[in-house]
Amino acid sequence: MIIQLDVSLDQERETGIFSALNGMEIPFYPVQTQVGHYLVCTPKADFDIRKVGHLPGIRDVHRVSGPHKMVSHKWKVDRTAIHFEDGTTISAQDFTVMAGPCSVESEEQVAATLDQLVANNIRFMRGGVYKPRTSPYSFRGLGLEGLKMFHELCREKGVKIVTEVMEAGQIDAMAPYVDVFQVGARNSQNFNLLEALGKVDKPVLLKRGISGSIDELLYSAEYIFKNGNERLMLCERGIRTFEKAYRNTLDLNAVPILKEKSHLPVIVDPSHGIGLRKHVAQMALASVAAGADGLLVEIHETPEKAATDGQQTLDFDEFASLMRQVKRLKEVMN
Ligand code: PEP
Ligand code: MN
Repeated sequence: MIIQLDVSLDQERETGIFSALNGMEIPFYPVQTQVGHYLVCTPKADFDIRKVGHLPGIRDVHRVSGPHKMVSHKWKVDRTAIHFEDGTTISAQDFTVMAGPCSVESEEQVAATLDQLVANNIRFMRGGVYKPRTSPYSFRGLGLEGLKMFHELCREKGVKIVTEVMEAGQIDAMAPYVDVFQVGARNSQNFNLLEALGKVDKPVLLKRGISGSIDELLYSAEYIFKNGNERLMLCERGIRTFEKAYRNTLDLNAVPILKEKSHLPVIVDPSHGIGLRKHVAQMALASVAAGADGLLVEIHETPEKAATDGQQTLDFDEFASLMRQVKRLKEVMN
């Protein structure tokens, strides 16, 4: 059960509501976000919501069964739209492409990518400066200095930055240069990081864990929401299965299921999802057909020379062609 409180709730009314719930032995967890004030209640048995609905200070009471509460579709009729200060929106109505290299490598690389994004009317550039690498001897990213350079070039073109944060201690230093914090698959259940991102006033793109279930992804999203951040999106990026013919198994079933279970936008990353450059575009289109609200795609001027993930990275022509196809497919679907 979710109790939505009045925005202007005063101390006296809050105390009244808390003692009424305590009197009925209903466990509850206050959730204060950038936009709302809620109480997530987890009663052992079903009970009559009219018993609390009349209390002064309560705006609405929503019956939400199931383990995930704040991210559940059951209480929020409208799907979440993520708004940015300049009017850009990520939502079911505003299909969003985020494209760029796996790793930020140099000024030249960022500038060349930005030209492509602008030419294709893309408003978000992805690029890692802190890279989670399986081998500690691989390229780990340019770090904060790289992020500052990335930010400066993106600002000049009016393009927003999506980049991965690997630990809570990095958030404050990164925040002035980041528009969307990405949580990578390896950190999908790093609960300390998720809690810390709940306290940040920046949108979060949360990736599904490498072996993460849908349920676990939603619980992880719940951590961020519960700690105060409603500007959240989910990302399907492929899971590890017994299949070895491709890097990961892109689970497109997750798209309609996540959209059914949650009000959050669902983004698909076909690059990590299949891990094979020549098939990325097809899987991107399949993601659109499955109902994704956006795509996260790796692109590079010369994928063969990319510092990381070149094997799954589209070149600029392949990307431009994909964007034309996405546009046509969206038209057909509409
Ligand atoms: C990435 O986006 O480059 C990345 C490392 O993704 P994931 O966490 O899905 O592996
Ligand atoms: Mn990558």
